[in-house]
Amino acid sequence: MSDHQKRSLCTLCQRPLVRCLCNLATLIHNRVELLILQHPLEVNNAKNSVGLLSLSLKNSHLKIGERFTNTALQTWLHASDKTPLLLYPETPEEKSLGLNSPAPLPDLRVYSPDQLRLVVLDGTWRKSRKMLYENSVLQGLPRLSLMEVPPSIYTIRKAHSENQLSTLEASCYALRQLEQAQVDYAPLLSAFAQFVAQQQAFIPKD
Ligand SMILES: [Zn+2]
Repeated sequence: MSDHQKRSLCTLCQRPLVRCLCNLATLIHNRVELLILQHPLEVNNAKNSVGLLSLSLKNSHLKIGERFTNTALQTWLHASDKTPLLLYPETPEEKSLGLNSPAPLPDLRVYSPDQLRLVVLDGTWRKSRKMLYENSVLQGLPRLSLMEVPPSIYTIRKAHSENQLSTLEASCYALRQLEQAQVDYAPLLSAFAQFVAQQQAFIPKD
């Protein structure tokens, strides 16, 4: 491959051609919409899982930033009158820091999946926490936590704790939970396993 090819970007996934993800992308018609808020430091991280996630999920939106304006956030969160839920654990330290309290989780049985919007923060544990702290609108959202967390297949990045998942995995499991398994995420999770294997071939573990 020439230097020129190495530098060129794929027009579909916007990654360098050598790391194009298009062959791995697998179209999933998720019913609960996914809003991904990505920390800027993740954008050029080759090991980030969001590229594959947003290429694959038909109903997903990706916004990049650490601190967003309230107006922008409110627009993205409530577009099409959907109810937003934040995939983030409630931590005791939030109260002592004076953050907004999360709204209680509504009774999800009264919502159909297409009335819901799942919001995920993509960044290291520290950076995603920073995003929460910097955006009071996000602090006030009802929190969703995962009921069942299978072990991560994401072995290419250091995790904060053993059960910390990649954004792709956490999103798939949360969507599956909200959609009550009406959509099959197995093809995407196996594509992700291939992605992890490819990345391992490229770069040493950090
Ligand atoms: Zn591509």
